[in-house]
Amino acid sequence: MARYVFITGGVVSSLGKGLASAALGALLQARGYTVRLRKLDPYLNVDPGTMSPFEHGEVFVTDDGAETDLDLGHYERFTGVAARKTDSVSSGRIYSTVLEKERRGDYLGKTIQVIPHVTNDIKDFLRIGEDEVDFMLCEIGGTVGDIEGLPFFEAIRQFIHERPRGECILMHLTLLPYLAASGELKTKPTQHSVKELQSIGLAPNVLLLRSEKPVPTKEREKIALFCNVRPDAVIAAPDLKTIYEAPLAYHREGLDRAVLDAFQISPAPRPNLDRWTDVMDRMENAEGEVRVAIVGKYTQLEDAYKSIAEALTHGGMANRTRVKTEWIDAEIFEREDPAAYLEPFDAILVPGGFGERGTEGKIRAAQFAREKGVPYLGICLGMQMAVIEAARDLAGVADAGSEEFDHEAGKKRFTPVVYHLKEWVQGNHVVERKVGDDKGGTMRLGAYTANLRPDSRVAQIYGATTIEERHRHRYEVDTKYREKLEKCGLIFSGMSPDGRLPEIVEIPDHPWFIGVQFHPELKSKPFAPHPLFADFVRAAVEASRLV
Ligand code: GLN
Repeated sequence: MARYVFITGGVVSSLGKGLASAALGALLQARGYTVRLRKLDPYLNVDPGTMSPFEHGEVFVTDDGAETDLDLGHYERFTGVAARKTDSVSSGRIYSTVLEKERRGDYLGKTIQVIPHVTNDIKDFLRIGEDEVDFMLCEIGGTVGDIEGLPFFEAIRQFIHERPRGECILMHLTLLPYLAASGELKTKPTQHSVKELQSIGLAPNVLLLRSEKPVPTKEREKIALFCNVRPDAVIAAPDLKTIYEAPLAYHREGLDRAVLDAFQISPAPRPNLDRWTDVMDRMENAEGEVRVAIVGKYTQLEDAYKSIAEALTHGGMANRTRVKTEWIDAEIFEREDPAAYLEPFDAILVPGGFGERGTEGKIRAAQFAREKGVPYLGICLGMQMAVIEAARDLAGVADAGSEEFDHEAGKKRFTPVVYHLKEWVQGNHVVERKVGDDKGGTMRLGAYTANLRPDSRVAQIYGATTIEERHRHRYEVDTKYREKLEKCGLIFSGMSPDGRLPEIVEIPDHPWFIGVQFHPELKSKPFAPHPLFADFVRAAVEASRLV
C-alpha cells in the first residue's frame, strides 16, 4: 500500500505548489521509489476543458483522454510518469457523481450530505491505484481556508485518521513575505495559515517556505516552535532561476530527507541525482541562443501555452543552446506585413487554438515561413492553418478554410479543407459525436497511433514509423485535398492507422516545415526532450548560422 503525502498551500495562491509536488516526486524517484502524483481541485467545473486558457492556463491532456489541470504537466515533466484520468479531480466532478448516484437511487432513503457522501467519494478517489506505487503525492488546489476546499481538507483528515499511523504526512507550502522597510522576513502569515489547518484537524509534518531571501536559522526555529513542526522539517524554498533547479535546490535544503524522516524511514536510500545534474548542466552551459516566434492568440498569459514553452526549453537542452521565445499576437498580421515582425526570428511556431479570431494572421505567418524557408512547426490549429495556406496559395482553392469558422459565423464562407469530424475509430470501436453534444469532452482526446511514411522527415526525426501522440481537437484536414496538395509539395507524411485522418504534413522541399494534428509538447521532458522539438530547435540553430 502506498504512503501518502498531502500537499497544501496557505497565505497566498500561486506559490508553486504543483512544482514543489513535482520536485518532491522527482526526489523520491531519485531515492529509488515509485511515485504517482494527483491533483484535487476545489472549483466547480467538472474539468478544466471548458475554462478559458486566459484564466486557468493550458489544459493538459492525458494519454487516456482526460482534460486536466496544467499541474499534471509539471508532474509528468519532473517524474516521467504518464498521468491518467484518475490523477485529477475537481469538486464539480465529485458533486456530479454524488448527484448522479442520488438520482439513480443508490442512497435511497438517505439525506445526502457533504459528510459522509461527498467526503467518501473523495476518499475513494484518493485510494485508486494505491497498490501500484510506493508514494502517492496528492496536491490540493487553492489555499487553506477557501470555502470550496473544505470538503477536500475534511476528507484528508478522515483519510489520515483511518489509515495506519505513519502512512500519511502533510506538507504545507506558505510564503514568508519580505518587508524591505525593516529588512525582515515575516513569519506571522505562516503561523496563521498553520493555525487555520489545525482548526480543521490537520497538522503539517513538513513546512516549505517560499521566500525571495534566504531564511535564517532563527526564523526557521521560530516557525518550528510556533507551528509545532520539527526544526529540520522547516524547509526553505528560495526563488529559483529555472523551475528545473527545483529538485536539486530542494534536496540541498533537505526536503526529501525531511519527508522520509516524517515517515520514519531510516536509513533512507541514497539519492542518485544524475538526471537533474545533467539537466542543469545543459541549461547552465548552453552556448548561443536561437529566437523562436510563437504566433498565437492567448499571448497575455504564458501559462496558456505552458507545455510548448517547456518543450522548447527541452529542445534547447538537447542542442545545448538557449531558446528565446517571443509571443506575437496573430491578429497583428491581419493588418500588418508579417515580415516586419518575423524576419528577426530563426523559427516560427503556430500553436493550437480554438475559434476564428487571429486565424487569418496565423495563415499569413505560415505563408511567410513557407516562402522564406524559415523553420515552421504548426501544432494542431497551427497545422490546419498551414494546410489552408497551402490550399489557397499552391493548390488553387482560393476560399479554403475550416468548418470551425463557418460554424461560428453561421453561414458558409469557405471551402472546408478542414472539416468537423463526427465519427472516428479509437482502438477497436467507433466514436460518434452529434451536433449539440455537451461542450465538455466532445473532442478527439488522448493518445492515438499514427503511421509515418518511411521516407519522410518525421520518420527520420522520430526514428520510427509508428508513433503515439495526444490529441485535443474537433476538426480534421480533409483527405479529399491530399492528392492536390501533395502535387504542390505538401506531403501527408503521417496518417491514422485506417488512413482516414491526416496526422502530419510536411514540405520536403523546405529547410523544416512540419504540421502536426496532435500535441507533441505534452510528452516532452527535460531529461527526454521530444524529438520534434529537439529537431525544430536544431533547424533553428542552423537557420541562425545562415544569417
Ligand atoms: N480548433 C481546432 C480544432 O478543434 C484546433 C484545436 C487545437 O488546436 N487544439 O480542431
